[in-house]
Amino acid sequence: MDLIDRECAVCRQDDHVEVFDQPTGAIIGIGDIGYHHRIQLCRRCGFVFAAPVLTEKMIFSFYEKMSNYEQPQHRGQRPQPEIDQIHRYVQLISRRFPEGFRGKALDIGCATAYGLSLFKARGWDVLGLDPSARCVALSKQCYDVRVIQGFFDPAVLIPEKPFDLIVLCHVLEHLLHPDKMLDDLNGLLSENGRVYIEVPDLMKPYAQKCYFGFEHVNFFTPVTLTNLARAHGFAVDSLSTFDNGPQISPFYPVIGVTLSKSGKKSALNNDYADVLPVIEKFKSGSMRLMARLQALISGIIEQTPKGRLALWGAGIHTSQLLSETALGQTPLACIFDNDPKKRGSFLQGHPVESFTGNIEDVKKRIDAILISSEASENDIYQQIGHLEGHGIRIYRLYQEEKNNDNMEKCS
Ligand SMILES: [Zn+2]
Repeated sequence: MDLIDRECAVCRQDDHVEVFDQPTGAIIGIGDIGYHHRIQLCRRCGFVFAAPVLTEKMIFSFYEKMSNYEQPQHRGQRPQPEIDQIHRYVQLISRRFPEGFRGKALDIGCATAYGLSLFKARGWDVLGLDPSARCVALSKQCYDVRVIQGFFDPAVLIPEKPFDLIVLCHVLEHLLHPDKMLDDLNGLLSENGRVYIEVPDLMKPYAQKCYFGFEHVNFFTPVTLTNLARAHGFAVDSLSTFDNGPQISPFYPVIGVTLSKSGKKSALNNDYADVLPVIEKFKSGSMRLMARLQALISGIIEQTPKGRLALWGAGIHTSQLLSETALGQTPLACIFDNDPKKRGSFLQGHPVESFTGNIEDVKKRIDAILISSEASENDIYQQIGHLEGHGIRIYRLYQEEKNNDNMEKCS
């Protein structure tokens, strides 16, 4: 397997220490590759990043084949918590422009373009960019917003420039070259324009098991995100952090910044001393969590006849459990997933199926289903909890964990 090594994308130095290793093994859509997501901390600036990582080609092909950002279960409509989050950043951005200002906005990774539709309603000229053909179609159909299908390519956007606003919401943490991206944005932005960036906040790593999932290769703090902006000709003109309680998806706390052009490169601060204890705490929490999950899973395997346990969810969390717990050596009936794109695939040799809703068919070959998703556990339980009335056991791993985490957070 080809992996790409990386140096620090913020200070460009190659002086980092490995602080975490997340075994991931097989990834649906990529294969049984025995992957480890190895997390590095830069000694010079405190930036945290994954290295070495899968090639951009592999990651992009995964997004094209398996991305679920179009949310098939919601038919293109964003769930309410996400809509609230979008209104939050639209409000935050609006404060950076004169009252009644109408400019040109670009949203990179716009999904179904709900955010852009709000600017359009205020008279802005808007353009989206998204790799998913389905998102492009839904953006047109739901909000009449033009979206170019593809990954970021400045050559495609130069004829459309300058933009008064460029939005990068939950994009920068995915890019192998976030520094290059900021240089490109500088060239696309109007002189008085703003860039809005929203990323997870590493200072508060909430979603414990999947926090260092392979899709994220950069982990920013307020300091390192500011450093990155300053190193690429931007000034941070607002920085907010949002905790996002468990009722809001994604669960984890985020940083939102608006940037304006500064025309200069400023000196960087070093966040190393503040970041290291956060990672150490995350690591010990993660080890305690794994011990609890291991014990729960071993119990489930003991209680279920061989080959009659199914998993529900073929995402990154399942990949991690298959690689870190006894599930990896357990014969499974199958792995169910709601996403029709995953049907017919295999995850570590197990077939991925869509649930037909036929209870008799399930009862013939399955005694128990383990919900193997951290983020969607409750949604999935709502969907399949009724199977318990037909004698099929449903296991939820995090029902108790979430309560414990909240108690730790509050104390
Ligand atoms: Zn660095």
